[in-house]
Amino acid sequence: MLKTKSIAALKPKAPLEAYSFERRNPKAKDVVIDIKFCGICHSDIHMVRDEWGMGSPFPMVPGHEIAGIVSQVGTGVTKYKIGDRVGVGCMVDSCRECSHCKSDLENYCVKGNTMTYGSIEKDGSGITQGGYSDKIVVNEDFVLKIPDNLPLDKAAPLLCAGITTYSPLRHWKAGPGKKVAVMGLGGLGHMAVKIASAMGADVTVLSRSESKRKDALDLGANNFINTSEENAFEKNALSFDLIINTIAVSDLDMSSYFSLLKLDGTLVSVGAPENALSIHPFSLILMRRNYAGSAIGGIKETQEMLDFCGEHNITPEIEVINAKKINEAFERILTSDVRYRFVIDLATL
Ligand code: NAP
Ligand code: ZN
Ligand code: ZN
Repeated sequence: MLKTKSIAALKPKAPLEAYSFERRNPKAKDVVIDIKFCGICHSDIHMVRDEWGMGSPFPMVPGHEIAGIVSQVGTGVTKYKIGDRVGVGCMVDSCRECSHCKSDLENYCVKGNTMTYGSIEKDGSGITQGGYSDKIVVNEDFVLKIPDNLPLDKAAPLLCAGITTYSPLRHWKAGPGKKVAVMGLGGLGHMAVKIASAMGADVTVLSRSESKRKDALDLGANNFINTSEENAFEKNALSFDLIINTIAVSDLDMSSYFSLLKLDGTLVSVGAPENALSIHPFSLILMRRNYAGSAIGGIKETQEMLDFCGEHNITPEIEVINAKKINEAFERILTSDVRYRFVIDLATL
C-alpha cells in the first residue's frame, strides 16, 4: 500500500486537518501520480458540508483539480510513462458499458461515475479520496495529459473549472456572432469568460461585485453588468443567446436573469447550490426560452479543452496557498474573496 499524506474533513462540516491514509498499489492499468498542485473548487465546500445530501463517506479528502507528475505505472499502462505531466478531474472511473460511456460522455454514465473523492470504488474495495494529498492512483483512462506550455499550478483548475465551462460553451455553440453572458465571476465564471472569448463570442459578465468590473474586462469580457444596480435587468432585456450560471447560491430572482435571454435563448446552470432555485414558467414561456444544466465533461472533451487552453494559452488567475491555510481559503471563497482560484501547493503538506 502507498502511504499518503493529506488534509481531510473527519466528519461533515468539520474543519480540515492533517490526515494520513493508504492508497492501493497500482493495478495493471493504474498510474501513480505525485500531486504537485490541487485547485479548490466551491464543490469541495458543498461536499465537505454535505450540502447536497449525498451522504458521502468521511473522513473525506476533497480535491478534483489535480496536476502532477507520473511516478509509477502499472504493468499494462500504455498511455503514460514516469515523468509525464498529467491531470485528474472530477471522475476516476465509470461503468464503461452504457451508451453514454460508449459515446465519450462518462460524466453522464447511466450507472453513475466514480467521483474522484467521496465515491465507493466500482469493485467495492474502498472509498475514493481526492487531491488535497501528495499522491493518487488512477486508472490511465481517467488521466489527462497537460500541454507542455501550461504550468502545473495554473493547469490544475482547468480539470474542473475549465471543463465545466468549456463543455456547455461548446454544446450551445458559443462563437463568433453569439452573445454569451456569465453569471458570477468566481472560479468557474472567470474561466467561462476566458474560454468563451477565445471561442470568439461576445462576452458579458453579470456580477453583483462592482469591484470586479475592471478584472472582467481584463479577462476578455466585452461588457460588465452590475446586477445590483437599479434597472440593470430592464436595460439589458433580450440581449443574450446563452447565459452560463455559475452562482453557488439559490436565492436568485431567476425571472430577471431569464429576461436577459433573446427569443430561443438558453440559460445553463452549472452552479449547484444547496437549495432549489425557484422558477416561474412564464419567464420561459414568453420568448420560448430554454433552461438547461451541464455537468463537467467527458474525458475526451476534457483533453480537447486542455489542448484548446494550451493552444490559446488560457490559464486561470490563481493564488497559490500553503496547505495549512485551507480553512481560511474556504472562508474566503464563501465571501467571494478569491481572484479567482485558490490552488494548494502540496509540497507544503
Ligand atoms: P466561486 O469561485 O465561489 O464562484 C461563485 C460566484 O458566484 C462568486 O464569485 C460570486 O460572483 C457569485 N456569488 C456568490 N454568492 C453569491 C450571492 N449570494 N449572490 C449572487 N452571486 C453570488 O465558486 P466556483 O468554484 O466557481 O463554483 C460555482 C458553483 O459551480 C458551485 O456551486 C459549484 O459547486 C458548482 N460546480 C458545478 C460543476 C458542474 O459540473 N455543474 C462543476 C464545478 C462546480 P460575483 O462576486 O461576481 O457576484
Ligand atoms: Zn469542481
Ligand atoms: Zn456508463
